[in-house]
This record gives sequence, structure tokens and C-alpha cells, in this order.
Amino acid sequence: MPVSSTAPQTAPENGRDALSVLHSVFGLSGFRGAQEQIVSHVTAGGNCLVLMPTGGGKSLCYQLPALLRQGCGIVVSPLIALMRDQVAGLIESGVNAAALNSSLTPQEASEVERRLIAGDLDLLYVAPERLVTPRCLSLLTQANVALFAIDEAHCVSQWGHDFRPEYVALSVIAERFPDVPRIALTATADELTRKEIVERLQLTDAPQFVSSFDRPNIRYEIVDKRNAVSQLKEFIRERHAGDAGVVYCLSRNRVEEVATALSDAGIPALPYHAGLDGALRSRNQDRFLNEDGIVIVATVAFGMGIDKPDVRFVAHLDLPKSIEAYYQETGRAGRDGKPSAAWMAYGLQDIVQQRRMIDESGASDEFKRVSVGKLDALVGLAETAHCRRKRLLAYFGETLRDESCGNCDNCVSPPRLRDGKVLAQKLLSCVYRTGQRFGAMHLIDVLIGRLTEKVTQFGHDKLTVFGIGRELNEKQWRTVLRQLVAMGHLQSDSEAFGALKLTESSRAVLRGETDIWLREETPGTRIRASRAKSRRGDLAPAASAPQGDVDPELRTRLRAWRSDIARERGVPAYVVLHDATIDGIVRAWPTTLDELRNVPGIGDKKLEHYGEELLRLVRTR
Ligand code: ADP
Ligand code: ZN
Repeated sequence: MPVSSTAPQTAPENGRDALSVLHSVFGLSGFRGAQEQIVSHVTAGGNCLVLMPTGGGKSLCYQLPALLRQGCGIVVSPLIALMRDQVAGLIESGVNAAALNSSLTPQEASEVERRLIAGDLDLLYVAPERLVTPRCLSLLTQANVALFAIDEAHCVSQWGHDFRPEYVALSVIAERFPDVPRIALTATADELTRKEIVERLQLTDAPQFVSSFDRPNIRYEIVDKRNAVSQLKEFIRERHAGDAGVVYCLSRNRVEEVATALSDAGIPALPYHAGLDGALRSRNQDRFLNEDGIVIVATVAFGMGIDKPDVRFVAHLDLPKSIEAYYQETGRAGRDGKPSAAWMAYGLQDIVQQRRMIDESGASDEFKRVSVGKLDALVGLAETAHCRRKRLLAYFGETLRDESCGNCDNCVSPPRLRDGKVLAQKLLSCVYRTGQRFGAMHLIDVLIGRLTEKVTQFGHDKLTVFGIGRELNEKQWRTVLRQLVAMGHLQSDSEAFGALKLTESSRAVLRGETDIWLREETPGTRIRASRAKSRRGDLAPAASAPQGDVDPELRTRLRAWRSDIARERGVPAYVVLHDATIDGIVRAWPTTLDELRNVPGIGDKKLEHYGEELLRLVRTR
């Protein structure tokens, strides 16, 4: 719920009103959520902090006031790639925008500086380390500055995941330009980060506009990991053929292996990790941004600053470290508000591996304790039989009113639960009888009575627990085992890798004092393709209409044209037209420029540049 603004609602200095600029420049017909309040607050000269999820529409919150106020809006942005794409998009819409960063030659930089002083710029993106130089600060005093927007403001937080020391120095903005409005924006929600932003950027008295962190168009799905790569291939083939997506893996080797496996299966996939040659890495990133339907397989190094709006899925083949990380990474799907998926395959090994990484990290006990807590919260999300969205939002202190969101695997296809008391007792006795020294595989062999060499060697076929678990197969036992670890009734031994041992709570389970409900193992993808398709439209309100009544050929034609233009101009395809705009054209089937003008995303400049051409493409049948 936004903290409402108390600033006076004065008319914009140059008389243009926000809605008409929204329409003429951005081709949009209305504001979303708190945008309108924020725009009028900043346009009237107020400072504020904006917390909005990825895809929420933060850019407009400072771009529009910058256009409405006298002078140039200065945007602090941490990544060159992000600046480049934002500037390209603005120029496409007819805005006088530029960037100042290390990618410019000295000549190019002085040309930008000249335009700033001459009052020839509406928006200027500046890297933080550059902004705080004496040279740049003195330049800004000579210019007419409309506002300062500090994007990705959580980078000031020392405890956050994206700390950038150069952001700390940004406190100079408030000191040197106390009368210029400051707007700080972030998609990171937690309280501690928020406090740090307010302190460092001196926003103590400024209102905070806090949006819901729900991403209703993202469907969350977490499946039991078996053969993760084939599960992933099946997921892409059945549900996301031809879509752009990101696949996250923990290690570089794994990234390479998965990218190759996908390519071999005919899925256009490219690797991205810190070990790749720099040129190749940026080529892969550019192809992902500029071409349609590329899957990028990456370590977590990939993502921040990726503004691509039409990422249709984010897949995790390994467990992230925390719910924050999971939310951030999955949040890269569906910025454009269209239906998207967050899919993760997860198994016992993931918990064991992450635990080991924490144990072996050499960090302080305090840090380890916090890390284990964060991991446990994520495991809880992965294991829950209830709505995942509700759980995710609850972690960020937000309450989802409905019991069920209708757009996560557990809501779409509720898991079957069974009374697992006896199964748990069998498994825990098996751990106890075999001396708490063995891993999952061996324990299961003993339970289902498999006479392996190891079983005979240790005489485990003579134990009373040998063969007491024949009612389940190996796969099912793995699921039981994982859940008991997740519940904390079993834990991996930090001394003997892979071995499982009992915990404090095991005794009560063994005595039958604890109720245990277990979810049954899930198939590879829980939501079948047909089902997902038929429900798409009604599940995600921001989504495009059902695809049945439109001409798929026109869409293909428009996309091909868009790729050509993007290549010609050297900008990402989405900078030319968003998918949502293409879908809008396909649905509206405009025959006149006026009709085309009503499609969201078509502003004056796009109409002028591409209008006739688009109408011609629509007419070609
Ligand atoms: P954020 O920076 O918060 O991740 P963006 O500013 O990039 O989000 O906006 C995400 C998407 O939403 C963009 O495709 C943008 O065009 C679209 N968008 C933003 N505001 C509106 C609006 N008022 N109406 C329709 N689309 C909007
Ligand atoms: Zn749900």
C-alpha cells in the first residue's frame, strides 16, 4: 500500500499534462498502480522512494517527470548495457536521451556534455562513479537539472546482494543539489535495504511508494528433480517452444553441459558465465537480447541489467541460496506482463550441496546461521503443498488475501498428501540401525531389500529394517527422504559427506508423537501443456487475449520485419516494438493510422516512423 503523497499538486512547469505525454511519447493510455501518484509528486518537485517489482513500470516514474519539468533528468544507473538499451528505446520514442559512461570516446563524451549544457537533453543516464567526479558535478551545476533518479537504489546497501561502493558516494547529490527532486527506485523489498537507501540518499522525510511485490503473470512451478536436463527439455518443448528463456545453473561446467544438451535437442541455447571469453560472452548476451527465442544458460552472474521484457520462462536446475535470490532471478521473466513461467527442478542433493557450501564457506558462525535460515525458508517454499505465491509474498511480509492464487502448480493441480508417519519411522529406524553413516542410495537399498555388494559387506541384510519398505519404489523413497530432510528430521552429516544422521526432532517421530504429512512424488512437469494453454488467458489479467482468433501468420510477419529493423538500427528487437505491441496490432488489425495509434506502445514517433509500413504489413495477406 502506497504511503500517500502530501505534496501540493501543482501544474507542470511547462503546462503539458502527464496523460497527454504518456500517450504521445510512450503510446500508453493510462497509468499503472502508483505511477500516477509518483509522477505528480516528482513533477511537483518532491523527493521519494519507489519500491516496485520488476516489470512494475518504474522507468515511467522518472522519465515522465523529466519530460514534464524544465531541464534534463539525470538517471544514475549501474550498468552500461542497461543504459544503452534504455537510451535506444527513448530515442526511438522521440526523446532526447543520451548516456555518459566509460563506453564513450572522449569526443563522444564532450558532445554529450555540450548538449547537456545547451539544454538539448531531456534525459541523461550517468554511471555512478562518473557522476560523483568533480568534473561531472561542476558540469551539472552549469546545467538545468530537472531531477535525479537513482535506479537500482538497493546498490547502496552493504548487506544486499548487489552492493556497489560507488553508490555510497551518491549522498553527494543531496548535499550539492538540495533543491532538485530525488527519486530512488528499487525492486528489492526488504526492510533493512529500504532503511539504508533512505539514510544514504537522505530521503528521511520523503514519502515511500510501496507496491505489491506480486507478479501475477508468473506461474511458479517446482518439480522433483530426476534427470534435470531431460525434464528441462520436456518443459521447453511442451510449453515454451520458440520462447526466450533463462536457465540458471550453479557451476560453469554445468552451464556448458546444459547449453550443449539443449542445442543438440534443437533448442537454440547459448552459455553465459564468468569463465567465458569476454567477447563471446557479450556476443551471447547480445544475441539473447536481439534475436527472438534464444535460451540463455547461465550462472547467476547473468541477469542484473537485463531489461528484456519478453523472457517467457526462467528455469532453475539448481536451488538458489535464498528466497530473495529466487524471487530476483525468477522475476526476470515476464516484465511485459504476459504469461510467463518460473520453473525449478529440485532434489535432495540440492539441499545437501547448499548446506555443504555454507559449512565450508569459512564465514563466521553468525553468517552461517543466517545462511542456513535463508536456505531453510527456500526449501520450505519448495516443499509446501499450499499456494507458492502466498508463501513467497508472506516471506516479504505481504499477505495474499485469497487462499489460492490459481497460478502456481499447487493451486492449479494440488498435490496429494499422505499420512507419512509409518514411512518416516521406517526410514529413521533404518538410518539409526545402519549407524548414521550412510547416504540416501544405500539407505533406500536396505529399505527395499536390495542385496547389493555394500549391503552384504556391512551385513545390513541381517538387520530387522532390511526390506521393510517394499511398499514404495526407489523414486518414492527419495521423495520421502528429501521431505524428512526438509522438515529437519534428518540432516546431512557435515563430517562425512553424503551421510545422513538423525536430529533432535527424530526421536519424537520415531515414537510416533509427530504427525507427518508427505506429498507424493510429482511428474516431471506438473502442469500439462493443454491445461496450461487453456487457462492462460483467464489466469493472467495483464495477458494477451487467447490466441485462437488471431492470425499467427501476421504475427510471424511482424516479428520478421521487427528483426530486420532491429538489425539495421543495431538495437534490440524490443526497442523497435514490444511483443505486447505486436500482439496488439495482430488483434486490432488496424487499417488506418488512427486505428494503429490506439495500439498500446505506438506513440507519435513510432507512428511517424513505422506507421505506413505496419499498415502495409497488416494488409498483406
Ligand atoms: P521496471 O523498470 O519496473 O522493471 P519497466 O519500467 O521496464 O519496469 O516497465 C515494464 C514494462 O511495463 C515495459 O514494457 C513498459 O512499457 C510497461 N509499462 C510501464 N508502465 C505502463 C503503463 N502505464 N501501461 C502499460 N504498460 C506499461
Ligand atoms: Zn498459488
